[in-house]
Amino acid sequence: MSSTVVVAMDGPSGSGKSSTSRGVADRLGLAYLDTGAQFRAMTVWMLRHGVDVEDPVAVAAQAGTPHLVSGTDPLDPTIVLDGADVAEAIRSAEVTAAVSPVAAVPEVRARLLDLQRSIIADALPGGGIVVEGRDIGSVVWPDADVKLYLTADAAARAARRTAENGSGSVAATEADLLRRDAIDSSRATAPLVVPAGAIHLDTTQYGLDEVIAKVVEIVEQATSGGTAS
Ligand code: C5P
Repeated sequence: MSSTVVVAMDGPSGSGKSSTSRGVADRLGLAYLDTGAQFRAMTVWMLRHGVDVEDPVAVAAQAGTPHLVSGTDPLDPTIVLDGADVAEAIRSAEVTAAVSPVAAVPEVRARLLDLQRSIIADALPGGGIVVEGRDIGSVVWPDADVKLYLTADAAARAARRTAENGSGSVAATEADLLRRDAIDSSRATAPLVVPAGAIHLDTTQYGLDEVIAKVVEIVEQATSGGTAS
């Protein structure tokens, strides 16, 4: 591999981005950033402080207030909000329901964009980073060495997410995923798109280990100057 690499991993909810990103970062000795966790932590702050998450003006007014720190160890990624660990709180159903409107607010995105770029820049001397989200290859780091776009059928994504959550119905989870996808894809600022130059991987038929192995191969080929298949 070349001395430093940025891997941009975009895609909709439940496409396998998180598990794949962490596995690839671990295999290649890279850092890992979960940008979705940052949007979720912003949402936790808004909810805890009584901000109406459906009011973009109210959310924008507070976008600069929360203090966020993201840990980038792929085996132990952390998210700290105003000095407290919120790793569990960010996964609640309430936060999952509220995060997409918060993430659509341009002031929230601008605030996190600065943070994301500084975390990526800090990781470069250590070899690089795998960054997962919705706009990494398109907006956050358009010069990423490898851009991937992961998808899977909605039913497969819902089944995976329901199994991860350990509760809830697959049908309700699928409806929630599709609702978030619609908001994330249609917003004006940094919508979910397939970034220019991205390799599109449909993970519906594959197990996690197969997807990780494929992505590791793609990254190794790209960074050694080869052509990824
Ligand atoms: O990836 P995850 O499901 O945790 O992301 C939660 C939400 O955060 C997404 O539905 C999306 O609204 C927002 N998000 C975003 N841009 C990113 C990462 C996440 O808008 N780069």
